[in-house]
Amino acid sequence: MSDEVLGPGPRTRVRRLPQKASYDADLIHAILDEAHLCHVAAIVNGRAVTLPTLHAREGRAIYLHGSQSNALLRAVVESGEACLTVTLYDGLRLARSGFESSIAYRSVVAYGAATIVEDDEEKRRVLDLFVDAILPGRAIEVRPMTDQELRLTLVVRLSIDEASAKVSSGPTEDVAGDLDLPIWSGTVPARLWFDAPVPARDGAMAEGDVDLPASVQRLLGGQR
Ligand SMILES: Cc1cc2nc3c(=O)[nH]c(=O)nc-3n(C[C@H](O)[C@H](O)[C@H](O)COP(=O)(O)OP(=O)(O)OC[C@H]3O[C@@H](n4cnc5c(N)ncnc54)[C@H](O)[C@@H]3O)c2cc1C
Repeated sequence: MSDEVLGPGPRTRVRRLPQKASYDADLIHAILDEAHLCHVAAIVNGRAVTLPTLHAREGRAIYLHGSQSNALLRAVVESGEACLTVTLYDGLRLARSGFESSIAYRSVVAYGAATIVEDDEEKRRVLDLFVDAILPGRAIEVRPMTDQELRLTLVVRLSIDEASAKVSSGPTEDVAGDLDLPIWSGTVPARLWFDAPVPARDGAMAEGDVDLPASVQRLLGGQR
């Protein structure tokens, strides 16, 4: 655990419900790492665009990747900055009124300076990080990336200048006048769950002699 904070800065001060805000680097990093995807916002051809995509974090850097012609990534690099958000859906918070009902969540908004990762060796390393961000331990199980795949892929490094987290959790908060109403109130926790793997039925897999990899076994074992 560190005492490092990533805000509040000019762009990241949470104004609504600031008691739910945190700028703690460890918390922000943990939310970024747990998130399976992010949304990146930029101005593309004069218009605001936000798109879902994958990310991988390492220290204060968040990496994005896509095709060399990816319009959003090109716009991010051209402007030199991006705004990235992730949200973890933690469940329902059902109050006795619709007004006080909400969901439990942990979210992060990060602003950073964007640059292209040009060096081939560094690109390979970062793309392995991506594979492991999707499924820890998978990078050593797949075949190495070809030079052509490397050339086709644009990798962008976003160095986090400032970031904020917002966490909504805990019991519901009904207003005093509603507490005795005969209406169910409470929380319904939620989590991401992976079902039984469905093997491919082509190539060597069709022969049925390829074992479930360690990465997938760990994934499934960890959620029991
Ligand atoms: C799943 C989900 C559902 C939500 N539903 C609603 C809704 O229906 N209505 C609603 O009004 N709000 C909702 N929110 C909260 C919303 O994200 C904003 O926090 C809020 O609307 C505006 O806060 P603000 O005025 O302080 O933000 P602004 O002043 O507009 O933002 C200032 C800065 O605060 C930080 N910030 C703001 N929101 C967040 C956040 N969620 N996480 C991390 N940093 C943040 C950012 O750095 C941002 O640049 C929801 C949040 C989540 C995660």
